[in-house]
Amino acid sequence: MTSPRSFLADLPPTARMPAIFVGHGNPMHAIEDSEYSRAWRKLGDELPAPKAILCVSAHWMTRGATLVHVGRRPRTIHDFGGFPAQLFAQQYPAPGAPDVAQAAIELLRASHAAPDEQWGLDHGAWSVLIRMFPKADVPVFQLSLDLSRGPAAHLALARDLKPLRERGVLIIGSGNLVHNLMAMAPGAQPYDWALAFDAKAARLIEERDFSGVAEAGVGGRSARLSHPTPEHFLPVLYSLGVADEKDELSFFNASFDMASISMRSFVLS
Ligand code: ZN
Repeated sequence: MTSPRSFLADLPPTARMPAIFVGHGNPMHAIEDSEYSRAWRKLGDELPAPKAILCVSAHWMTRGATLVHVGRRPRTIHDFGGFPAQLFAQQYPAPGAPDVAQAAIELLRASHAAPDEQWGLDHGAWSVLIRMFPKADVPVFQLSLDLSRGPAAHLALARDLKPLRERGVLIIGSGNLVHNLMAMAPGAQPYDWALAFDAKAARLIEERDFSGVAEAGVGGRSARLSHPTPEHFLPVLYSLGVADEKDELSFFNASFDMASISMRSFVLS
């Protein structure tokens, strides 16, 4: 009897890749010059070249299952409305990473992750990647957020993905540490609750209290106002779940856009 093929065992070991969280905010950063898009570009230049990218975006939500996209040619999804035609015309033609995606499914055996061939790259992924890796030559795949799970379960699930960092996979969580679209106020100063939640999350991350970050997402007034819905918060737990005490932390883009969107991002390496 032969054992089934292990996709993970077939991936050659590499130096440990960083784990990243990116506050993506407004999709226009994909095409407009901004302090944020410039920082994404610079980061892409500075990072070690990944063999593949796993992006966990706020914009792929499922219920009752964690899906992993295994397509060879992920489509560029324009999952927004009311933006200029130039934004809808953008394509991010990076190849998929089906073998690495299958390795991720193996690692998530306990969570019953399943392969998906329908999704592609939503704007939480491509609006950032188009700046970080403009050549679109690094294979990319996405993993969905199962909204039937609470924050602690997302953190636990992410921990199982850690070995991918030693297989050349750059793991990017893409959401926002504070995200309240109803409260957006162009040109205004950030709200007190927004500053409070952002600062609390930053402190817990600095202390490497990743469980504390997961708990912060569900408790209190500042958490409720910062995340009326959980999807932009949950991706940070993937960036933290694949990290540990040994990783050095650096924040970037630590400012607010339109008073209620924290663009704070970080690298753990
Ligand atoms: Zn978003």
